[in-house]
Amino acid sequence: MMQVHCLVLISLCYGSLAMPRPQNNADVSSSDQNFAEKYLNKFYSSNAKEKSSFRERLEEMQRFFRMKITGKLDTSTMDMMKAPRCGMPDVAEFSTFNGRPRWQKNSITYRIVNYTPDLPAGVVDDSIQRAFNVWSQVTPLRFTKVNRGEADIFIQFSARSHGDQNPFDGSNGVLAHAYAPGARIGGDAHFDEDERWTNSRAGFNLFLVAAHEFGHSLGLNHSQDPQALMFPTYRYTNTDNYRLPRDDVNGIQSLYGRRRK
Ligand SMILES: [Zn+2]
Ligand SMILES: [Zn+2]
Repeated sequence: MMQVHCLVLISLCYGSLAMPRPQNNADVSSSDQNFAEKYLNKFYSSNAKEKSSFRERLEEMQRFFRMKITGKLDTSTMDMMKAPRCGMPDVAEFSTFNGRPRWQKNSITYRIVNYTPDLPAGVVDDSIQRAFNVWSQVTPLRFTKVNRGEADIFIQFSARSHGDQNPFDGSNGVLAHAYAPGARIGGDAHFDEDERWTNSRAGFNLFLVAAHEFGHSLGLNHSQDPQALMFPTYRYTNTDNYRLPRDDVNGIQSLYGRRRK
């Protein structure tokens, strides 16, 4: 099974009617309950033969985020579910990812199959190159752009169904996904064309999302460190002189080693 990771933004206006915030399951609004069930089904569905219960998956989610494990849809859990984030279908396939797939070479090629109309092509090229640089600065990895033919990592912008088993969902929701290292679709990174891609703090910053997705393309799982690039939530940070957070450096160097001087 190929590993797929999704960068997800949960709509912030969801359930914004003047409803009281739930304190426990007893007074959770039905819209919040539905939201939570969909969220857990999407990001915390188990591969196990016996389906784990709502409460078990809720506790799994609370454990991942290092929250108080209450098994209840309390206020902080609901807030976390509604925050912009990268999805966790990898929880279901953790053992696959735990096999630590990695590229068995340091020279990796990528090809940008198509371009988003949101940005000039040169800005897309630059954002993608800077996103790879984030990883090559701390490892022996080298990334080379090719314009035709085969490449290790194919990059594309697509809306809705786009030829894999993971159709995009329109604006917000899933932003992008990428496949763990491997043949064919392995390593490929797909960006949802229904998002507004930018090189600023508006919309979604292509450099930041691409840098996160390429972490998956290179074999990194999500991190529980809130400061990490590989943390599930999307958040804008200043991209000038961006430096890869320590946790991500440790992660990628555990797979590929340090950059040789
Ligand atoms: Zn991710
Ligand atoms: Zn895809």
